[in-house]
Amino acid sequence: MTDIIQLLPDHVANQIAAGEVVQRPASVVKELLENAIDANATEIKLIIKDAGKTLVQVIDNGKGMSVTDARLSFERHATSKIKTAEDLFQLNTKGFRGEALASIAAIAHVELNTKRSEDELGTAIEIEGSSVKSQEVSVTPTGTSVAVKNLFFNIPARRNFLKSDTVELRHITDEFHRVALAHPNIAFAYYHNGSELFNLPNENYRQRVVHVFGAKTNEKLVPVEEETEVLKISGFVGKPQYSKKTRSEQFFFVNQRFIKSPYLNHSINAAFEGLLKDGYHPSYFLNLTVDPKTIDINIHPTKTEIKFDDEHTLYAILRSAVKHSLGQFNIAPVLDFENQSNLNTPYGYKDKPANAPKIQVDRSFNPFSENSDLKYSQKQHNTSFRKVPNPSWESLYVGLESKGNTATDNFSEVTFESNAKTESIFIDDSAIESTKSTFQIQQKYIVSTIKSGMLIIDQNRAHQRILYENFLKYITIKEAISQQLLFPHQLHFTPSEVKIINQLKTDLEHAGFVFSEISNKEITITGLPVGVPESEVSIILEQLISDVENDVPEANFSAADLLAKSMAKSLAIKNGQSLNNTEQEHLVNSLFACKEPNVSPTNRTTFITMSVDEIEKKFV
Ligand code: ADP
Ligand code: MG
Repeated sequence: MTDIIQLLPDHVANQIAAGEVVQRPASVVKELLENAIDANATEIKLIIKDAGKTLVQVIDNGKGMSVTDARLSFERHATSKIKTAEDLFQLNTKGFRGEALASIAAIAHVELNTKRSEDELGTAIEIEGSSVKSQEVSVTPTGTSVAVKNLFFNIPARRNFLKSDTVELRHITDEFHRVALAHPNIAFAYYHNGSELFNLPNENYRQRVVHVFGAKTNEKLVPVEEETEVLKISGFVGKPQYSKKTRSEQFFFVNQRFIKSPYLNHSINAAFEGLLKDGYHPSYFLNLTVDPKTIDINIHPTKTEIKFDDEHTLYAILRSAVKHSLGQFNIAPVLDFENQSNLNTPYGYKDKPANAPKIQVDRSFNPFSENSDLKYSQKQHNTSFRKVPNPSWESLYVGLESKGNTATDNFSEVTFESNAKTESIFIDDSAIESTKSTFQIQQKYIVSTIKSGMLIIDQNRAHQRILYENFLKYITIKEAISQQLLFPHQLHFTPSEVKIINQLKTDLEHAGFVFSEISNKEITITGLPVGVPESEVSIILEQLISDVENDVPEANFSAADLLAKSMAKSLAIKNGQSLNNTEQEHLVNSLFACKEPNVSPTNRTTFITMSVDEIEKKFV
């Protein structure tokens, strides 16, 4: 018998990787625009034909590439943006994976033209399905042009999977909006089939928002400005009376990167509480600036999620900054409605000392102090959302206490499946030595001892794993226990969101949700899974919808799995939450009662160990 394992040829590997990076023409648009921005361009042109099916071209006046770099840029994992793993924690560029151009070139016809300012002549390269067709010296202006033609020419299944031109163009325009809003100081032009859709000069943020969403937008905007040690916020929220039935005007940018965050979205909703009609969503265009070290950009190329070290604090600061702005501009009903002159103050607001909002609300806020005022005010307003340590902690016991067993008992019949790592911990150490000696560092990690050394657990990921297995179990055995609500809980969604809920209805019911009505835009809930607080329902469903929308359903797409993951994500204790000893111990024990304790539901490491040997080595 000969050996049978072979390394895949590069073009095949690229084609597989491309499936991840490039889902539709809009993904190409995003990657090319981001490359142009990373190249410090000040003017960027986007040219589209047939909703990107025939052509996606991006022309920039950025720094261009040398001959060698031009060729290398199409290699997989070739990037000029990071050199070491540490660089990942201080990313200042959009790209870093070095796989976009390689992936695109694997599934399209690509023409690159590029020149650096110091060079007389540029380089033109043509690539089709990963193979270089030509490379020439070219006369071209400084900067880079990448033309991507006939996307998916060699993957007919993918090509057929594309939606109508209207839908694909919509996706491209969404992508364009996000990039253009994040970079008001860059001029953008956007053409489709020869007609100009946008022509945006270098401008300030307010002008950019107005140019993108139309002149009428100007009067809607209320500035939000706040600067604290951990977070700088700037941008606008829409006045409540202009709120929309869709979420199409909701934008968060973190360090100039568009992100989706149902959690932070919730904080804006909380700030608007009492100001919106049922079923309406606030508009917002908010730029958040945080230390890059405190965020974890999703390694997945197409996801717009991001992990913050301390979401609690961000939530609180954001909520109070928005609330304050609404109050400052006389929008909150408690304030005087007569004095409306401020409402129309356009750009001048920042320069007028009398108006400059000094936000005091947060100065004393200490998310780590058990007694912070905020905690109480949130309780009062019943918008509490995981900032109060105790209630959410109960969710760790979701479904468990209902059977009157401990976590371990409940899982005693669980068989270990893929457990190389697990075994090494449990069999060698025969158990965690004693969980009495756990402690928490930075409200983020739990440290515990094991016979061979020590164990460091990521509390959020660990809790996600625990909740995930619980939910999945209940969904699959269809035996969840619901708690009846005293009053039906009504939620408003767009028709397309309702559709998603409808698709998942059966699984949601198995998880313990009880729906009394699902209409075109309203959902009435009369029962919830045990342990899920009523205040969390909207966030769970929003998270779920956003997860479904972001996840391209694959063949092995399992609604139950997605639901369990999504609920676990919504309900898991966050980083920044302090846990007492009992809670820590319970978390550790429940984690190791899981089938796959090593990884979170999204495959991230939940704990690491350090053996005494390793520790000793560090002391030599
Ligand atoms: P990444 O952006 O993750 O580094 P890409 O495959 O998108 O990976 O690009 C590979 C490399 O090609 C980049 O790191 C950059 O050096 C170079 N490059 C791509 N596009 C441009 C551009 N428009 N201008 C200058 N350099 C570019
Ligand atoms: Mg890139």
